[in-house]
Amino acid sequence: MTTDVKARPARPSEPPTTGTGTPSLKDRGNLFEVAMRQIDKAAQLTKLDADVWQILQQPKNEILTNFPVRMDDGRIQLFKGYRVQHNNILGPYKGGMRYHPEANLDEMKALAAWMTYKSALHEIPFGGGKGGIKFDPTKHSKTELERITRRFTHSLGNNIGPDWDIPAPDVGSNEQTMVWMMDTYMNVVGQNERHSVRGVVTGKSVNAGGSYGRREATGAGVMHCIVEWAKDTNFDLDGAHVIIQGFGNVGSFAARLLSQKGAVIVGVGDHGGYIANPEGLNAHKLQEHVAKAGTVATYKGAAKITRDEFFALECDVFVPAALELEIGVKEANALKAKVVVEGANGPTYPEAEDILLDKGVAVIPDILCNSGGVIVSYYEWLQNKRSEQWEHQDVLDRLQHRMTKTYGEVRTYATKHKCNWRTASYAIGLERIERCYKERGIFP
Ligand code: NAD
Repeated sequence: MTTDVKARPARPSEPPTTGTGTPSLKDRGNLFEVAMRQIDKAAQLTKLDADVWQILQQPKNEILTNFPVRMDDGRIQLFKGYRVQHNNILGPYKGGMRYHPEANLDEMKALAAWMTYKSALHEIPFGGGKGGIKFDPTKHSKTELERITRRFTHSLGNNIGPDWDIPAPDVGSNEQTMVWMMDTYMNVVGQNERHSVRGVVTGKSVNAGGSYGRREATGAGVMHCIVEWAKDTNFDLDGAHVIIQGFGNVGSFAARLLSQKGAVIVGVGDHGGYIANPEGLNAHKLQEHVAKAGTVATYKGAAKITRDEFFALECDVFVPAALELEIGVKEANALKAKVVVEGANGPTYPEAEDILLDKGVAVIPDILCNSGGVIVSYYEWLQNKRSEQWEHQDVLDRLQHRMTKTYGEVRTYATKHKCNWRTASYAIGLERIERCYKERGIFP
């Protein structure tokens, strides 16, 4: 158990900005507190049992490890790694590994809790976890990244495992990271078990035991939610204007898949800057550019704009797909979109969400719409357990079915209980968890 929790700063109503116009994460308030405020509304609506609520308000385990790694120049550098295990009543802990210089314990606690409710909402037999390393992966060579990842995996030891806690990629980590984690874990179990523990991580490359469709899964889930919202509101996606913040795994695939539906991507932004083109950006070419240049900011087929100009762009759909707490009061007031579809985890301050809802902007919450990743991770884990490889289309069809089913359940719940979609999504998850606790009780 550890405590690197700093005194809680005053709760900001909008993200403060640095000179580059990009808010620093450490100045954005306590993410765990934001998460608890959101979930508390659903706990009140469902009249959640006080004992269950007490259990859910803190993670079960908070693991912090400082581990040494040899750098390319021969020096040793110490890294700080985290793994927070929020809850496992419904199944093994599950959640991403974030590599980011501003990673911190409260962020991990919030992200781990969101995973618990996300899996419960979609009826995936997983609990919630999150972890990562506090460092900037862009500042290290591939060989250093490999050693950092392997040493971190080794430090976590039996705190991860295919039936205990199953990491996946998140911001700053990717398929390669997962393959190194899997290989390290496989090599420390007995040789007879080696192949039966492939499911220790998901989001692996297909070559190394991953699932077809995992790469684009989260973006695909976002797209399915937008398609459902368009059906509900009689809105034609063909020609609709879309802006996307973050052009990594989630943002880039959301852009490509929405373009295939006829939507026009008129603005994007990432850590390097923001660009716009009212005629539309070619998502495929932009993804190729980012793979080489590392940012959208240097893409030739668009004009450079500021962060403030990005949030004020004329558009129908906004997909935040970067980091948390990017939409404050200022951004909410500026946004012209009809719907905000949270590809990122926790991108919206509660105060900003109130403004959006008052303006009549629909908000499709993160735990509903960015769950494509964990859903296909579940399929990957099942395939690993059964030594199967499902066909690509089969995976995509199952994903679409589950996303649209849950979307419909949230719509029905929100209508019945006259609440917003975020509260409805948490409430469905909380009720499932509560039922399980009621039946199982507390051991001993
Ligand atoms: P990624 O590392 O692939 O991409 C992150 C993107 O955000 C990059 O384009 C980066 O430049 C941009 N970014 C970083 N800092 C920024 C800043 N200050 N301002 C603007 N842009 C910034 O990560 P990802 O996997 O695409 O994850 C993005 C979000 O989606 C995160 O909130 C993550 O937790 C969430 N998410 C990811 C998955 C998944 O399967 N990868 C699943 C569910 C939720």
